Amino acid sequence: MKKPVVGVFGVSGCAGCMLTMLYEDAFKQLSNFLDLRSFPLIKEDKYTGDFDYVFIEGTVCSDEDIMKLNEIRKRTKKVVAIGSCAALGGVPSAKNFLDQEKVMKLVYPKTNQLKSTLPQPISMHIKVDYSLPQCPPDKKEILEFIQCILTGREFKPYENPVCFECRKKGNKCLLDEGKLCLGPITNGGCNALCPSNKTTCYGCRGPLKEANLKAFINLLKEKGFTKKELHDKMRTFAGLGFGELEEENKTSRWLEN
Ligand code: SF4
Ligand code: SF4
Ligand code: SF4
Repeated sequence: MKKPVVGVFGVSGCAGCMLTMLYEDAFKQLSNFLDLRSFPLIKEDKYTGDFDYVFIEGTVCSDEDIMKLNEIRKRTKKVVAIGSCAALGGVPSAKNFLDQEKVMKLVYPKTNQLKSTLPQPISMHIKVDYSLPQCPPDKKEILEFIQCILTGREFKPYENPVCFECRKKGNKCLLDEGKLCLGPITNGGCNALCPSNKTTCYGCRGPLKEANLKAFINLLKEKGFTKKELHDKMRTFAGLGFGELEEENKTSRWLEN
């Protein structure tokens, strides 16, 4: 059987997604069955041919990122966004909700020559075939995806809320302890990683398809949480991921009422 030609690339990211792949022994074993042509952390990128699959991490933060994505897309059959940055915008997307001038002045002494580009998920620039969000991404999910590539099975994303896995594990609900947990509106698949370690869910796997945000907001209002607390949490790791859900449900208005 011909090995699938695979590449791993990053736009503006922290390399954490790529490291997650590298530090997994099972990935090293599975990569023997892949024709791995490009992976910035382990080999020079001299390959100029086409790919069957490309994994991309990071947020789109510059014109160079956009050019790189378009070039990869032209040469690739299936593009896979790995991590919350590539799939949802991730942590760098915080800039979308802040004063651009103030943000630039925090980092650079002179800003008159700078062009401010708003960070966005890669799907806002190229067609994405599969998304594996989480920060950092889930090793097991990446391996399962690669097994699907190798066996010709279609990859099926997980489609239950984080609460489903959390309850199954018998965890005590953090909302009952007065902590704002996004589990009810977040797509699971991480085995309720954060609540199982007594930390609230920040929604890094993005919104649940059928999330009932209205019911969740009513619950939060009853518990005394504010609009700002909800928005800050939804935007911390998911970036722009909850944007559509917020828009559809007019979260700002409901929380103000
Ligand atoms: S998703 Fe997390 S680990 Fe991956 S590039 Fe973004 S910040 Fe880094
Ligand atoms: S702790 Fe969070 S994820 Fe777990 S059941 Fe409560 S709201 Fe859901
Ligand atoms: S519990 Fe929430 S924040 Fe933690 S890994 Fe899962 S989806 Fe991400």
